[in-house]
Amino acid sequence: MIKIYNTLTRKKEDFVPVEPGLVKMYVCGPTVYNYIHIGNARPMIVFDTVRRYFLYKGYEVRYVSNFTDVDDKIIKEAIEENTTSEEISRRYIAECKKDMAGMNILPATVNPKATEEIDGMKSMISTLIDKGYAYRAEDGTVYYRTRKFKGYGKLSHKNIDDLESGHRDIKVTGDLKEDPLDFVLWKPKKEGEPSWDSPWCDGRPGWHIECSVMAKRYLGDTIDIHAGGEDLIFPHHENEIAQSEAANGADFAHYWMHNAFLKINNQKMSKSLGNFLTVRGISEKYDLQVLRFFMLSAQYRNPLNFSFDLMDSAKASYERIVNAETKLIDLLKDADDDGLTSNEEAKLEESDKFRIEFEEAMDDDFNTADAITAVFDLVKFINTNANEDSSAQFLTALQEELKKLTDVLGLIIDRNAASLDEDVEELIKEREAARAAKDFKKADEIRDRLLGMGIRLKDTRDGVRWEKS
Ligand code: AMP
Ligand code: ZN
Repeated sequence: MIKIYNTLTRKKEDFVPVEPGLVKMYVCGPTVYNYIHIGNARPMIVFDTVRRYFLYKGYEVRYVSNFTDVDDKIIKEAIEENTTSEEISRRYIAECKKDMAGMNILPATVNPKATEEIDGMKSMISTLIDKGYAYRAEDGTVYYRTRKFKGYGKLSHKNIDDLESGHRDIKVTGDLKEDPLDFVLWKPKKEGEPSWDSPWCDGRPGWHIECSVMAKRYLGDTIDIHAGGEDLIFPHHENEIAQSEAANGADFAHYWMHNAFLKINNQKMSKSLGNFLTVRGISEKYDLQVLRFFMLSAQYRNPLNFSFDLMDSAKASYERIVNAETKLIDLLKDADDDGLTSNEEAKLEESDKFRIEFEEAMDDDFNTADAITAVFDLVKFINTNANEDSSAQFLTALQEELKKLTDVLGLIIDRNAASLDEDVEELIKEREAARAAKDFKKADEIRDRLLGMGIRLKDTRDGVRWEKS
């Protein structure tokens, strides 16, 4: 039984899905105004691993993660670069997807974008107004009437009277709110900003409403797991609960999961301190598999400190796993195909304990740190027991076991597969450059060459995707 620490109840609870066999999961995604930083990568890697473990356990997982593509920071970046918000967010969504592919994060079932969900947001805001949970102020701003929602504060365990209003809503008005706790659902446009018409004013949505709406549209009124970094507990997730539960009249999410923060050299990561690292920057020094391994070396609710020394030791550890796989591949080339010896049979039975140890760790609120220890125990076992005399069956069984566990962690351990990815990315870039230069002959040649390597390309609205065919 999988146990999850639920921020809502502050307890580890048995996971029981709304619908048997199906996990409906929503993870708050990044605001796209720059390359993602390694802090953003932590929830991506952690919750991708949660998803993979559910898949391993035989669940179907519907995984929704948004891109916030309308926001003050995007508008500011657009002004600085003398371009539009659309251009900024389109660019950084594409870059973010490249980073995610590098970190071996499975593509979401749906990746909704705020700007494509405006109708749903308007409709939920109308419902909230109709039910008395929201009101329009004189200048057209629509506010949520926080004190009316009786459960307010239940996620962050704050008392409503001690609360101050959330910091991520920019106050576009003077004091037109009925109460300082009220937060923005819709705000009037400012000159040069993206805006949409609405019954209240031409404007744009507040930040919190997008997640309530996307979760409802793609997963339904009640979902299993809602996740994000711990900074989102208040006000973002508290506000999402207030919006969704008031509008839908149903529990919003049964389990709330929050990852602790990633620090750098034991300091908070911030642009002003100049200790801000992007995933892209890291990818120039390390295989992103090393970053993934590093992130999983701690249980997700523990703070994690980034340093290059720690990355170097993560690299060495990750390579120990890759080397075990390489050793098996090499031994298999000359191994005899004459079945398991009784000694090997006994050894395989013994090796089952590593999988059990792994599952126990993952069942306990996704303790990837202990799960990695189990993988290393298996690696040690492989190094001790696999040799030139081993049968092909024995080596293959060990290989399958190692692959099964490392797949849950999303770690690519086959050196050839890992370098194939890099070659493919390189060729795709060349093909895109050729297309941009209208050299379609060359672009087609590259496509065919990739096809020859067993790689099929798909041109999508969000750029080129590829799959092994
Ligand atoms: P944002 O773009 O700031 O909304 O962040 C996207 C996701 O990254 C959210 O789930 C944040 O909680 C998470 N996040 C941001 N910074 C960090 C950090 N330093 N460590 C861990 N998670 C973070
Ligand atoms: Zn959200």
